[in-house]
Amino acid sequence: MEKLIFEKSVKGRRAYSLPALGFDSFSSENLLPERFRRRRELNLPELSEVEVARHFVKLSKLNYCIEDNVYPLGSCTMKYNPKVNEKVATLDGFATLHPHIDEDSCQGALQLMYELGESLKKITGFTGVTLQPASGSQGELTGLLLIRAYHLDRGDTKRNKILIPDSAHGTNPASSAIAGFQVITIKSDEDGRVSIEDLKKYCDETVAGFMLTNPNTVGLFEKNILEISRLIHDCGGLMYMDGANLNALLGIVYPAEMGFDCMHINLHKTFSTPHGGGGPGAGPVCVNDKLEPYLPVPQITFDGQKYHLNYDVPKTIGKLHSFFGNFLVFVRAYTYILMNGTEGLKKVSKGAIINANYLLSKLKDVYRQPYNEHCMHEFVITGENQKKFGVTTKDIAKRILDFGFYAPTIYFPLIVHEAMLVEPTETEAKERLDEYANVFLQIAKEAETNPEILLTAPHTTPVRRVDDARAARIVNVNYFKGETKG
Ligand SMILES: *Cc1c(COP(=O)(O)O)cnc(C)c1O
Repeated sequence: MEKLIFEKSVKGRRAYSLPALGFDSFSSENLLPERFRRRRELNLPELSEVEVARHFVKLSKLNYCIEDNVYPLGSCTMKYNPKVNEKVATLDGFATLHPHIDEDSCQGALQLMYELGESLKKITGFTGVTLQPASGSQGELTGLLLIRAYHLDRGDTKRNKILIPDSAHGTNPASSAIAGFQVITIKSDEDGRVSIEDLKKYCDETVAGFMLTNPNTVGLFEKNILEISRLIHDCGGLMYMDGANLNALLGIVYPAEMGFDCMHINLHKTFSTPHGGGGPGAGPVCVNDKLEPYLPVPQITFDGQKYHLNYDVPKTIGKLHSFFGNFLVFVRAYTYILMNGTEGLKKVSKGAIINANYLLSKLKDVYRQPYNEHCMHEFVITGENQKKFGVTTKDIAKRILDFGFYAPTIYFPLIVHEAMLVEPTETEAKERLDEYANVFLQIAKEAETNPEILLTAPHTTPVRRVDDARAARIVNVNYFKGETKG
């Protein structure tokens, strides 16, 4: 492993430093009261400038990113982030804007947020929007609070349940619980879709809503969506769409027309703003007229001449984020939408679906495909065929890393044994997909002839196989001189 920067320290080494000021009126002794001052010298590493530069460049090369190679992490839509987005987001007028600036001085920024909201409404078919939530999961919480406000406003106080399919992403039950609802799990049928039979058992006057991902997390379109929406609406509930898989629908299907009342959009997935490592992201929520009165404040309005921040919304659920949300994420998503245009966005989704099906067709004879049909923008295969050689999906995923590729999502969705959820996205060329397929096929051969190489993988990465259980339970990222603990 690369040495830690502390271990490279040599006493007395210096990088470039400014000459002494020659006066001391700004020294910390004059400005800081005694009790706030440092008592010990900081134990910082001492290195020359070139050593510091080399250290961080080396570290950056240990990292894997979409600019390295394919990043087919199913459900996460890790597509390439066009650099023009970054260029626009670093324009001074956007990057240095102060959130307390008055309305008149930031009309451009307000216009951008307003128009991004309008674009998202067009893309989804909804009539209301808030950009505030900072992530998909916070969007879920927002949507659920809107649904709760809607029922309570009608004096309908018995609705305390949210129905969620067993294939759902873990954030769905988590955000439902945080919003104060009881979670009811609905089974999936053998074809990977919501069991209508099971759903019917729970449709009653205690249902606040149904939370559904479409296409769902096994990469299939919920064909019975109109019937599902009717069942839920008939019992007085509302339909929430987890929009994390919107990358399959752009310009092809409008979620509002499938009977959903609201949805969140992950700008950091579908609209190409960078993610991984925990943010920043944005999870705008789009709603129909039933939920519009409760949207968070401030709302951005346009009177034909000027843009305003409207806080005067009597039934609002309040604020979900400081100020307006993650503004520079909006700038990137807005740039991406304008660069693609209506036709471009449709091509994005079609490309994502074609790429996924192409890759699936190359793998499905070797890896088990639990749902034997065409997929949407992602697909599930499993490591079950390889289990008889003593290897698991995890070993396959670890071995993929040795070939310089990132592994797909594994062991999700939970309803499929030994699952691998693969989402190549539209930004991969055919050559990359062929290479990736070949890696999978070679590993399947290795599983037969040399399973040991899978069991001990990865062999070429800076960190070899970690003990997942220990790493999750005993997290310690502190530096201890002379030893690495944890
Ligand atoms: C990513 C994802 C979420 C959560 O979104 P975050 O932005 O990570 O909070 C929810 N549901 C599905 C299906 C997802 O893929």
